[in-house]
Amino acid sequence: MKITEHIERAGGRTLFSFEILPPLKGHNVQGIFDGIDPLMEFRPPFIDVTYHREEYVFIEREKGLLEKRVVRKRPGTVGICAAIQSKYKVDAVPHILCGGFSKEDTENFLIDLDFLEIQNVMALRGDAVKSEVYFKPEADGHRYACDLVKQVSEMNEGNFLDEALENGHKTEFCIGVAGYPEKHMEAPSLDRDIQYLKSKQEAGAEYVVTQMFFDNSRFFEFVEKCRKSGIHIPIIPGLKPISIKKHLSLIPHRFHVDLPCDLVREVEKCSSNNEVQEVGIEWCIQQSRELVAAGVPVLHYYSMGKSENIRRIASEVF
Ligand code: FAD
Repeated sequence: MKITEHIERAGGRTLFSFEILPPLKGHNVQGIFDGIDPLMEFRPPFIDVTYHREEYVFIEREKGLLEKRVVRKRPGTVGICAAIQSKYKVDAVPHILCGGFSKEDTENFLIDLDFLEIQNVMALRGDAVKSEVYFKPEADGHRYACDLVKQVSEMNEGNFLDEALENGHKTEFCIGVAGYPEKHMEAPSLDRDIQYLKSKQEAGAEYVVTQMFFDNSRFFEFVEKCRKSGIHIPIIPGLKPISIKKHLSLIPHRFHVDLPCDLVREVEKCSSNNEVQEVGIEWCIQQSRELVAAGVPVLHYYSMGKSENIRRIASEVF
């Protein structure tokens, strides 16, 4: 079922969902199921599965002579989505990227998803690979997520890339996109970023999932600005509990979001990561409760493969 249908059917009740990462290459899928199992009691209508493109690594072969290797550390997004749908009977939402894909690669990828009866996709640009400063699209690939959304929308209309082919089949993907309450790092301003978010809605996006945030007022202000700008689709908050002290520097660096002073102070007082985890869980419970009270359609947790803290949060909130 489409995410938008799940939201409609809930009739104003806040739903629970979460995002997982495919396992590192060389690990089996059981670890993924072990992470999902404890969260099933909260009846997630959907589970997101991230997509990880290739990374370029440089290996020194001889002194001063570097060899460039291409590695995909976390393949398996499609396989895991298919396994989730068959094992748990919940909708899996694969993330699809502009980066690393030509338009034809995207079309073929979407055909596989359609055959697997996957009805939802999260359409993203992807980040620059580590060896590049700026994001670089493939030759004949998409530069922005809104162009990827357009391609999926075209397939939903039965328009495939090669007009010479006799097309008849229409895919039925419900398309989610990313939003940034504290603006995307490359955007010149939050207002401009919201304009670009609106262009994703105009291209066919049906819901937004936000980047993580730790101060709900940033989310509420963002939603208000989006609504004023004409973005009317559901906006789903993304939440992540802090669990290690290192997150104090890692999260702002990696995700370009602020951590509130009170949270930083509490984490700094901790003498072990077990204590940090407790602070992170408590903070996230308070955030979650306030968001539920504000009537958000879904609380979407970034589990990063660790479900125990998400289970504890959900058991206090749902
Ligand atoms: P876009 O919407 O294309 O925006 C990228 C930048 O370009 C922004 O600064 C925007 O303001 C600007 N922009 C947009 N349109 C235009 C335009 N027409 N002209 C000029 N500027 C424009 N990454 C992964 O690799 N795999 C994942 O699975 C993954 N999942 C994610 C899930 C969520 C919920 C979120 C929030 C992020 C996820 N990411 C993932 C990270 C994401 O790929 C990066 O944040 C990426 O840098 C931007 O992606 P986007 O889809 O928001 O891009």
